[in-house]
Amino acid sequence: MSDTTPAPTPQPADLADRAAALDAADDLAELRERFTLPEGVVYLDGNSLGALPAGVAATTADVVARQWGELLIRSWDESDWWTAPERIGDKIAPLIGAAAGQVVVGDSTSVNLFKALVGAARLAEPGRTRLLVDAATFPTDGYIAASAARMTGLEVVPVDPSAARAIGEDTAVVLLNHVDYRSGRLHDLPALTAAARAAGAVTVWDLCHSAGALPVGLDEHGVDLAVGCTYKYLNGGPGAPAYLYIADRHQAAFDSPLPGWNGHADPFAMTPEFAPADGARRGRVGTPDILSMLALEAALDVWDGVSVEAVRAKSLALTDFFLACVAAYVPRGRVEPVTPAEHAHRGSQVSLRTENAREVMGELIARGVIGDFRAPDVLRFGFTPLYVGFADAERAARTLGHIFG
Ligand SMILES: *Cc1c(COP(=O)(O)O)cnc(C)c1O
Repeated sequence: MSDTTPAPTPQPADLADRAAALDAADDLAELRERFTLPEGVVYLDGNSLGALPAGVAATTADVVARQWGELLIRSWDESDWWTAPERIGDKIAPLIGAAAGQVVVGDSTSVNLFKALVGAARLAEPGRTRLLVDAATFPTDGYIAASAARMTGLEVVPVDPSAARAIGEDTAVVLLNHVDYRSGRLHDLPALTAAARAAGAVTVWDLCHSAGALPVGLDEHGVDLAVGCTYKYLNGGPGAPAYLYIADRHQAAFDSPLPGWNGHADPFAMTPEFAPADGARRGRVGTPDILSMLALEAALDVWDGVSVEAVRAKSLALTDFFLACVAAYVPRGRVEPVTPAEHAHRGSQVSLRTENAREVMGELIARGVIGDFRAPDVLRFGFTPLYVGFADAERAARTLGHIFG
């Protein structure tokens, strides 16, 4: 092929036609009907707060009016409230490549990070001194890691997750974000987990920006511990409880730093001594937040019959198409993609660096395109393949072009 003739710049009509064709050929397009979305809005912030699944409102109303209002305390048994953390964990498990019995739902991601990191330090071989944390981590992970390290006598070492060589004989624990929240970069979970295992270190993966958007394969790759939130790509609702994964092989030795009575082997025996429950249940702490938890359970129904592989394929097609539309519509030099172009390194968002990012995002939102802004200069566009289509991507890029036009 000649490399001297530049391809003609696509025109808006071409890209709009292309979007319509891609939407028409999209097997996942009908899943949008499983959500309640406002008319006229392009929602590209599902990596911060997922959209509302259609079944949640009715379930929540029933939980409040009947389960709580009528059955009262009987609902802990009769409405299966007590076992919700494990039951919903088992519903999340296939989405992150985990067999049943290893995921427990409850508390925030921050709290689960604390359990996982101190638990990991207690699982690590004695004599190891370092807790590796990715240098660009979401702040809460870094804050919690610093405290966990202080409590367990480890030293926090910031690392670049593309450099597996930082993992060595003195590494006790490695905490990494699967997808970087700011740049959208996907880190190599299989290779980094393998490197950590080879060095004898315990891995903790934060799946906040990958679960529900791409295959994770926790069991397949031998991850030790993982945490993630459910209000992003899992659409569980604002403040929905997070989850903790404890691999089968570590469950008997996992020693939670928050051994609340819900994680006791026999909570209603009310014994003065703590005896941990078997399985992932020992990751529980106190009484679960049932209203949020059952809203999450209903939200997870949107995954019935959906494969994460198909979601990943559409996510990459959407972000490819959005990047092509941005290149065609936005005047040269006004935005710079921060998210890697290579599929192997791309999560399910596109981050664009630009001047006045806060104002630009404000303008976009005023024109019905909702993304978000991360200081100091990043526009973030999250693509949730369950409810975002190619026409949405085209309109978002076209609107961005108008703002710069
Ligand atoms: C969203 C996110 C969190 C959120 O933690 P909360 O305790 O739910 O507020 C933590 N870590 C990462 C990497 C995130 O993306």
